[in-house]
Amino acid sequence: MAQIRLKNVSKRWNNFIGVDNFNLDIADQEFLVLLGPSGCGKTTTMRMIAGLEEITEGEIWIGDRLVNKLEPKDRDISMVFQSYGLYPNMTVYENIRFPLKVRKVPQDQHDERVMKAARMVELEPFLDRRPAALSGGQRQRVALARAIVREPNAFLMDEPLSNLDAKLRVSTRAQIKNLHHALKTTTIYVTHDQIEAMTLADRVVVMNKGVVQQVGTPMEIYDRPANTFVASFIGSPAMNLVAGTISKGVFTSEGIRIEGLPQGVDGAVTLGFRAEDASLAETEGQIEAPIYTVELLGEATMLSMRVAGELVSIKVGKDYRAEIGDRARIAIPASACHLFDQASGTRIG
Ligand code: ATP
Repeated sequence: MAQIRLKNVSKRWNNFIGVDNFNLDIADQEFLVLLGPSGCGKTTTMRMIAGLEEITEGEIWIGDRLVNKLEPKDRDISMVFQSYGLYPNMTVYENIRFPLKVRKVPQDQHDERVMKAARMVELEPFLDRRPAALSGGQRQRVALARAIVREPNAFLMDEPLSNLDAKLRVSTRAQIKNLHHALKTTTIYVTHDQIEAMTLADRVVVMNKGVVQQVGTPMEIYDRPANTFVASFIGSPAMNLVAGTISKGVFTSEGIRIEGLPQGVDGAVTLGFRAEDASLAETEGQIEAPIYTVELLGEATMLSMRVAGELVSIKVGKDYRAEIGDRARIAIPASACHLFDQASGTRIG
C-alpha cells in the first residue's frame, strides 16, 4: 500500500509543455482519476509516475521513496492499459502467472495467487484458453488479473475500458470499483470519460493543456466547478453557459433574466446552470424562448432552446410534448446558478 506524492512535476519536450507544475498528494488506498480531453497530459502524468517517461522537473514519491531515478520495475506498481498486452502463445493461466515468474516469486505460491486473482475477475472458466479465444472484456479481465497477482503498492490504469463496447464498459467499470473495494490498493486511473471519472473516483483531477484545473470529489467538481472548462466538461449534458451582464444581483441577456443572484459582482459574466436544475415555469419564467429541438430520453424529455446565442439544454418531465418552434417558459432558481468571470472563466459565485 502506498501514498503517492507529486511535487512541482513538469514535462517539457523542447518548448512544448506536456505537463505544467503538477502538485498532488494521493492518499494510501485512494482511487484517483485523471480526467481531461485528448492531449491534456493525463497519460504523460501517469507514465512519469510509472517511470516510463523521464520528468523534466519536480519530484515523485511513492511511499517514503523518491522514485525519480528508479526503474519502472523497481517502483512496485502494476499498469493496465487500453490495449491488453497479453502474450498470445500463453494460456490465460500462464499470462496471469507471468509477473510472478519474472519477479522470481517462489513457485509454490504461484497457483494460489493466480487462482485468487482469476477468481476476483471471474476468469476461472477460461484459464486454459489463449487470448485469441477470448472476448475483449475477458481479455481486459486477464490484464486486470495480471496486475492484481503481483499485489503491488499501486495500480496505474490508462483508459482500460476504451476498447470495450458500451455495455461491457459499464460492467467492467463496476468490476474495477468492486476490486478496489476488496483490495484497497492505491489506484490512479486515466480517462477522458467524465462518467467513468464520476462513478469510480474518490477524487478527480481535471486537466486541460497540461494544467490541473481542479481537484475534488466527484460531487465537489459537479456542484462547484472551479471554472468554465470544468463546468463544460462535467455532467451529461454539460452545464449550460450563457454570456451576459450582472448588476445588483440581476443577470440579463437575450431571452434570459435571473434575479436574486449574489450582489457585488457587477459586469460581464458567464452564467452557468444545469439542465436538471431548470423546469417548466407555471407563469413567468427566467427564460422565454422558442424550442430548438425536443429529445425523448425515456426517463425525461430534453429541450434545447437558443438563449443569448447559445443552445441550452433543459430537462423536463418524461410526458412533456412540444413542437419545434413552440415558445416555452423555463424557471431557474437563483440558488442553482453559477457565475464565472467572462474573461478568465474563473468561478466568482
Ligand atoms: P490522450 O487521451 O489522447 O491519450 P492525454 O491527455 O493522455 O491524451 P498525453 O498523451 O499525456 O495526453 O500528451 C500530452 C501532450 O504531450 C500532447 O499534446 C502530446 O502530443 C504531447 N506529447 C506526448 N508525448 C510526446 C513526445 N514524446 N514528444 C513531444 N510531445 C509529446
